[in-house]
Amino acid sequence: MSTDALYQELILEHNRKPRNFREMPDASRTIEGRNPLCGDALTLWVKLENDTIADASFKGQGCAISKASASLMTAAVKGKTRAEAEELFERFHQLVTGTLPESEQKSLGSLRALGGVSKFPLRVKCASLAWHALHSALASDDSEVSTEREGPEPPPMEGA
Ligand code: ZN
Repeated sequence: MSTDALYQELILEHNRKPRNFREMPDASRTIEGRNPLCGDALTLWVKLENDTIADASFKGQGCAISKASASLMTAAVKGKTRAEAEELFERFHQLVTGTLPESEQKSLGSLRALGGVSKFPLRVKCASLAWHALHSALASDDSEVSTEREGPEPPPMEGA
């Protein structure tokens, strides 16, 4: 099996059985994330203990890439400090935009499975959605994030 085929299989597997796919009633932060270009929408829950991400979970609907990425992301950041998670996001973003040097890709572990989206600009937003939500969760209070900053406002969320 080629590496590409293995990565493809990993994405499909995480899409079928996403990790940490559950609500978290006692979360410290809850963020809604949307990618209108694809129709991906997710809710991310993060539990912070001091400066460490004690738990992360999500629910939502969207394409296989967005779901697999959220699954891989929540698994990858658990136990990390905010700074470590932000640093991981930075490297992940470089990976999916095709600017991460080959020599540094190994450090991303199974997140590397999403590297293939760098060839498909629209898919980069699918792969980044959960990470943008995480970034907002760590940076601020409850809010909503969108991959599209310009353009019409999304409709208000009930009970958000
Ligand atoms: Zn998508």
